[in-house]
Amino acid sequence: MKIVLATSNKGKISEFKKMMPNDEVIAFTELLGDIDIIEDGISFKENAIIKAKTIYEKLQDENIIVISDDSGITVPKLNNEPGIYSARYAGIDASDKDNLNKLINELNKKNLTQTPAYYTACIAIAHKNEIYTVHGWMHGKVINEAKGDEGFGYDPIFVPSGFDNTLGELSGEIKKKFSHRSKALELAKKVLAQF
Ligand code: IMP
Repeated sequence: MKIVLATSNKGKISEFKKMMPNDEVIAFTELLGDIDIIEDGISFKENAIIKAKTIYEKLQDENIIVISDDSGITVPKLNNEPGIYSARYAGIDASDKDNLNKLINELNKKNLTQTPAYYTACIAIAHKNEIYTVHGWMHGKVINEAKGDEGFGYDPIFVPSGFDNTLGELSGEIKKKFSHRSKALELAKKVLAQF
């Protein structure tokens, strides 16, 4: 199956390619170049739909399959921050590192050395002028110190439930077994199987 990913996030692209080894997975930028998609939804679902729809409409091929992923990390003790603002927690053009440091700073401001947190991923699929959405979650905790450089984004401070190490220290193969993105993609594959 040929799938166009409606994301330019290198971490996500790499994970999708590994999770869909039997499909031809390409990032939209390879077909359309850089496009600034305005994510002004108020939920992961709304933003995932915006991304999938924008790329699907630009490709002008109703048979194409576009998949988007809107995701982020939620920390209940920090008023559910950063949530849908995970990619721009430290500002509009913030890097993953800036966002990670901002979250560590916010934890330190509240003297939290560790606290429960969870990742959410919403995947939207656009095909034949319809949009389908599915969700996945990964629970665990965040700590106030970055450890390891596997994964991307907030992974160096996220310790999944049942583990003592951060996702920065665990291999991608382990993350793939239970990540929010893998869980959402398992459901998405059930939708794709109907096409
Ligand atoms: P989006 O591309 O607008 O959906 O933003 C996703 C944000 O959440 C980025 O800042 C990512 O770094 C972060 N994020 C989403 N999924 C993960 C993950 O699996 N690991 C680490 N950070 C993630």
